[in-house]
Amino acid sequence: MVVCCGVYQKIQQQAGFIEFSLLHFEEAKELFLEGQLDVRELISLFPDLLPASSSFIRRNPPLHDIGNVSEMCSFESNEIQSCRKFLLHYLETIRNSMDAAGSKIEIDTALLKLYAEMDYTTLLQFLSGTDIGCQPKEGVEVLHRFQRYHALALFHLKLGENDSALGIWSKIISGEFSDPFYPGLTHFIEFLSKLSDHLLLWKYVDFVLERDQRLGVRIFTERSPSETSERLRPDFIVEYLHRFPVALVKFLEYLVFEKKLEKEKFHTHLAVLYMDNVLQILKLPEPEQTDLNDSRKKLQHLLHSSSLYRVQLLLGKATESNLHKECAILYGKLEEHEKALKILVHQLQDHDAAEDYCIRMSNGRDKKYRHRLFYALLSVYLDSTLEEQKREEMLPAAIQLLNSELAEFDVSKVLQLIPSHWSVAILDQFLVRALRSSLHHRYCCRLQSALARGENLQVKFSKIHIENTSIIMTEDRICAVCKHSFVEPAFARHSNATLTHPQCAKHLNLNLNVSQESNNPFLSDLR
Ligand SMILES: [Zn+2]
Repeated sequence: MVVCCGVYQKIQQQAGFIEFSLLHFEEAKELFLEGQLDVRELISLFPDLLPASSSFIRRNPPLHDIGNVSEMCSFESNEIQSCRKFLLHYLETIRNSMDAAGSKIEIDTALLKLYAEMDYTTLLQFLSGTDIGCQPKEGVEVLHRFQRYHALALFHLKLGENDSALGIWSKIISGEFSDPFYPGLTHFIEFLSKLSDHLLLWKYVDFVLERDQRLGVRIFTERSPSETSERLRPDFIVEYLHRFPVALVKFLEYLVFEKKLEKEKFHTHLAVLYMDNVLQILKLPEPEQTDLNDSRKKLQHLLHSSSLYRVQLLLGKATESNLHKECAILYGKLEEHEKALKILVHQLQDHDAAEDYCIRMSNGRDKKYRHRLFYALLSVYLDSTLEEQKREEMLPAAIQLLNSELAEFDVSKVLQLIPSHWSVAILDQFLVRALRSSLHHRYCCRLQSALARGENLQVKFSKIHIENTSIIMTEDRICAVCKHSFVEPAFARHSNATLTHPQCAKHLNLNLNVSQESNNPFLSDLR
């Protein structure tokens, strides 16, 4: 039966080669598959496609009398091409089947060569698959010959040769090699951002940053957070990036805003770079207004949001260059509110900003702090050292502030500040509100006091009640915490009637699952 089967298959294979020689590919494919043809018999008809290392010898007696495909097709190139396409499809069909067993190197080498020759897109997919049975030397040689450089780099990756892959990609980017299928610098950067060989990474940092600093900095900012390395220490990178100012700013922004590193030197460095940028724009003969606004907004945002930079250093620079808004923020950081408010009111004449300042700075602080700030603002408005005309100008703002819902004042202090010649009508709203809030405050205090007194009474009552109950102490009673008997005369009795040693009383919570109120210890002394 086995012999029979073998004979039948041999006949099918022979018939397959006859159909193949007639270029009847459909029929040939079916017969080869059914006859379970050793695929190397077919590949050997294309001598250039066999691996250089193959020791394959055709079956004897032979299955056919074809020397090679070129002869078979009388060197007709169209026909030879059809045969090669047929082989490609046939190999794709059987690559992952049982018939491929033992022929992996021959199949994969032939596929690599055929793809390199006629289908680059599939070649790239083929190379991103796992497990490619192809001799390294031959694969490299083939891909070089067909100038499939991106594929060649991927092949090097497969071999674990990252350096060679990066070398080839860099040549494509710099134009030394041409390969329209390579995605370009973005791919290169993405690869570096995942590369764990940091020594190799640094070899290409300059190459990338010289081409695109904005993108290039992603090598450092898009790394896995779990990665730690001496070669990628933030200080080290900052130091290195000095030659690349755009990348440096991006990297510092990453450290400060994304990684939230709380290091004074990074915060100061970034703030100084922001400020230098603003000053540079201001120096231009015709500064672009949107650029200037954007840069100042960035600077102001950092000055607001961070508290880690060196305020004095920046204040010096801001004052020198008349950056009033920035000065106000910096004075605020130093808690010199009067100076900050004076800038907002007198230099910038922005009363809304001044009110905002009071609200923002008192955020999260107590009422007194808020009172202090609004009082400071009012004093700036009512500054008696101002010349007459200025004082007149400030009047509406002061009255508006007094009557505004937002502001909060300590009434008694405000009344001292207000000029005596002001009429009550001007202060009407303010006074009514002040009176109302003072009354409200008084009622609240009274209510609180009454409630506290009530609570006090209740506690006293329960104390008397507890003290009136007696307990009998016997020898066999034990402490609820340490389980020892009572030797000393002192003990603690809890409101849920448990007894403990005085020193054990505080541990009762942990040992007994009782509610907080029920085990207030009550110390007794039998003496
Ligand atoms: Zn005890």
